[in-house]
Amino acid sequence: MTQQDQATQNRFRPETSRGHYLLEVFGILCFVLLVLLIGVDVYHGAVEFGDLWLAPILAVLAYLAADFLSGLVHFLADNFGSYDTPIIGPNFIEPFREHHIDPKGIVGNDFVDANGNNSLASLPFMLAVWVVVPLETTYYGYLFGIFFLFLCLAAFLTNQFHKWAHMDVPPAFVGWLQAWGVILSRDHHDIHHESPYDTYYCITAGFWNPLLDRTRFFERAERLIRRSVPGTDPRFRSEREENL
Ligand SMILES: [Zn+2]
Ligand SMILES: [Zn+2]
Repeated sequence: MTQQDQATQNRFRPETSRGHYLLEVFGILCFVLLVLLIGVDVYHGAVEFGDLWLAPILAVLAYLAADFLSGLVHFLADNFGSYDTPIIGPNFIEPFREHHIDPKGIVGNDFVDANGNNSLASLPFMLAVWVVVPLETTYYGYLFGIFFLFLCLAAFLTNQFHKWAHMDVPPAFVGWLQAWGVILSRDHHDIHHESPYDTYYCITAGFWNPLLDRTRFFERAERLIRRSVPGTDPRFRSEREENL
């Protein structure tokens, strides 16, 4: 970490309340526990069904899916709801929007702050998969289990990758991964940080961003949601902000 990054870290010490910080620690511990529980079931599936050669393919698919999901969640948090929306308002909508105002603030987040909210958000889905999906007794349940474990791991790492993309000088191995396009790079992510912040939403690796930008996917999605979901403002967010 450079002196500048260190200075940024001191200047933007997160103002997470002690209660929420403990909740984030709890979220990370539960995340690890559920990974272990799902992992044990998947292990039993592997003993029963084999075909472990499919694991690397499923890992790549899961990574691509996580990148797309990161874009979708980011898009929704940037454009819909408000800081007062129950649960997701203070935990997702506010951090994403404040991040546009203070993009360097994320560099000051420690491991818990960087990854706690993503862990908490993953828990209901992980619990549902562990309880409902026959991970060790059916072949396709077992394959889904492998895919899902990698998906959770990539989701867990997403905000860490996002944080690294905002550092002036990230650790050397991170810079190498960024240069190879394996994880989100600074130059790539800078495109999202240009007003009106309405493209390049994906923040795991950013793989989908050029395609989604070219096809105006999120513009179309925003229009569709504003037309079809009752209660949403019919104007685009960028239009509303222009008139402020
Ligand atoms: Zn954003
Ligand atoms: Zn950012």
